[in-house]
Amino acid sequence: MSRYSLTGNLRDAAFQKGTDLFGVADASCFLRPDYTGNRPQEIMPEISVVLLLGVSIPRGAFATLPGGRGEYTNTLMAGTATLRVIAFSLARQIEREGYLASIVPTEGSEFGYWYADRETLKADLSLKYAAYHAGLGSFGHNHLLIHPDFGARLRMTGILTDAPLEAGNPHASGFHHPSCKGCKKCIDICPAKALSDDGTINREACADYMFRELGGLRCGMCIKVCPL
Ligand code: SF4
Ligand code: SF4
Repeated sequence: MSRYSLTGNLRDAAFQKGTDLFGVADASCFLRPDYTGNRPQEIMPEISVVLLLGVSIPRGAFATLPGGRGEYTNTLMAGTATLRVIAFSLARQIEREGYLASIVPTEGSEFGYWYADRETLKADLSLKYAAYHAGLGSFGHNHLLIHPDFGARLRMTGILTDAPLEAGNPHASGFHHPSCKGCKKCIDICPAKALSDDGTINREACADYMFRELGGLRCGMCIKVCPL
């Protein structure tokens, strides 16, 4: 099967199963000098692409913050569970075509970045960086991917594969979302003072707040206040 048909078949299957977001990033983006995270090549040396899948998180989960932190956290985890089911099915579809496929932990899940590396709090790879290179959006000051339709109200996962899928290109608006210029809503609301207007995050401060002060419930205030 050609790379175009396989990519198209996977895209169709993903949307049929309930994904809101589908993209493909050429794994070579992780070799660029601007990338400072862990590389998927360390996990799968033969990797060609990262296939990105995402679901939008219902607005009600943000509207009820901060009182509804339990509901917000549970809604995020429901997104994670949904993505796992979709990704598992797609991984098996890829392997039926004779390629390797393995599913990346969803960010913030029990195997995601808060837990994967306790020292750096960095994931095995940055799904947001891959999503940017796949053309799914750009980075906000809240250090999250901003999608044109769903803003930062997203949950994502990825599939590492050596399948020769058709990769996308970065979003035309550039790495930093243009709407962040002149807006500091997420920076001002952050209870941990973890965000900066150069788009960086103090991971430790954010994790400390959620895991020490909130006992593991997620915060989400930097998403709630974002107008995008
Ligand atoms: S709240 Fe404002 S600065 Fe923060 S991500 Fe949204 S638009 Fe950008
Ligand atoms: S999740 Fe909360 S603590 Fe973490 S960066 Fe966003 S607002 Fe700050």
